[in-house]
Amino acid sequence: MKSTGIVRRIDALGRFVLPIELRRLLELDTDSSIEIFTEEDAVILKKYQPACVFCGEAKDVTQYMGRNVCAKCIDTLAQLKK
Ligand SMILES: [Zn+2]
Repeated sequence: MKSTGIVRRIDALGRFVLPIELRRLLELDTDSSIEIFTEEDAVILKKYQPACVFCGEAKDVTQYMGRNVCAKCIDTLAQLKK
């Protein structure tokens, strides 16, 4: 984890502004989603990329019955049927 040197104050409702430089760097546009993690005393914000329910891969993900499945797992599942 590397420091950005940026300090932000949290308001009464728990909000803070994610600096534009970081939003541009991570390609976070209006209405983008971020995922929130904690690790010991740290809060980690990560660009939300829906991941495959089976393997966790975030590339080539398709939704099926409300679940995210990657292309590789779809191929693997198709092989099981044969
Ligand atoms: Zn997968």
